[in-house]
Amino acid sequence: MLQRIYGTVWATQEQLDQYLWRREARRRSATTAGSGVQLDLFSFNNVSPGSAFWHPKGQRIWRTLEGAMRELQERRGYQEVSTPIVVSERLWQQSGHWDHYRDNMFLIESEGQTFSLKPMNCPEATVLYKSKVRSYRDLPLRYSEFGRLHRNERSGTLSGLTRVRHFIQDDAHNFVRPDQLMAELQAVLGEVSEAYSWFGLEPRFAFATRPDDAIGDPALWERAEALMKEALDSTGANYVVKPKDGTFYAPKIDIYIDDALGREWQMATIQIDLLMLPERFDLTYVDESGQAQRPMAIHRAIYGSLERFIGILVEHFAGALPLWVAPVQAVLIPIADRHVAGARELEAVMRSRALRVEVDASDNRMQNKIRIAQGQKVPYMVVLGDREIEARAATVRRRGAGKDEPQETLGWDELAERLATEARERRVT
Ligand SMILES: [Zn+2]
Repeated sequence: MLQRIYGTVWATQEQLDQYLWRREARRRSATTAGSGVQLDLFSFNNVSPGSAFWHPKGQRIWRTLEGAMRELQERRGYQEVSTPIVVSERLWQQSGHWDHYRDNMFLIESEGQTFSLKPMNCPEATVLYKSKVRSYRDLPLRYSEFGRLHRNERSGTLSGLTRVRHFIQDDAHNFVRPDQLMAELQAVLGEVSEAYSWFGLEPRFAFATRPDDAIGDPALWERAEALMKEALDSTGANYVVKPKDGTFYAPKIDIYIDDALGREWQMATIQIDLLMLPERFDLTYVDESGQAQRPMAIHRAIYGSLERFIGILVEHFAGALPLWVAPVQAVLIPIADRHVAGARELEAVMRSRALRVEVDASDNRMQNKIRIAQGQKVPYMVVLGDREIEARAATVRRRGAGKDEPQETLGWDELAERLATEARERRVT
């Protein structure tokens, strides 16, 4: 059935859907790239299509997110590792990616051998696993890696930070005994809820089952799917089922969020793998009676691609990131030149509490400096004149505060302590 688009232009429903989808994709790409560029977080250059050049402020966000995830991972007993980026085709043949994923890989020839830039970290985790004989006592073994990945997305599909060729994933592979799988999966779902709560986001889950091009024994698939469903049900998580949407080697749980504008974004995934890593790489551990047994592997990312995650965060908060993530947490604004030295003193007090502070020592007028800091969505502005510097006090202007909202005057130490606490607690507002 034809639909009228405008005037005398008619289209089938399918054409209309495609048109709307493309328009939405263009809009998303324009906005995700736009606000990040405006905030001086990153830029793109056609010398490396689909790969962000991170500016100092963007890199600060990056490192803050990475630090928070590292802290969670340390608490949960992960061990961080790092594996090579250029990897022989032999590894991808063994994992199955050569048949299922080669078109998305960047290939490199050297000395008659074919290598690829790794599009994922998984197979290399098995090299680490197999570097020793593993006992049942060694499991769970949790290897985390901020892996630098390249995927050869067609240039027409690239879109701001949300669809890139180069990205870093907060990846992990957790090797477990069958009797440990359920507890591990529940714990990983808990990691997701915790990490998303740092941004006030509520994750939703989709359970994706065996696709038509799946590798391996259907009985193993059934077992993995049943375990996954049981774990999801046991946590009371809110989820939908997506039939045949799993990867070629494992069923998966996709994590979704709705942003502030009600748009749905697919974030990271959790997979239960009884096949690709355990079977194809012949992983074993020695059980209590000295027999070789097969471990199971959980692949999990929480942010997913850090590039994409940051792009979505910037969109969600319209650039006004929570204090703990904001690349500049406070701007100090001396009213006149003679107040710059005092501002530098307060800057030192705040930096000693690990706060990210800048002094606007330009010769702009005060109102201009305030406007610039507002444009950069800096959480706090502190205006300093004779009175404040003499009293070692500061009048604090909160981002987004209404004109009539009373401004608070605090001592310098008290101000630094208050902001440091807000950052440490990762408060969202
Ligand atoms: Zn993996």
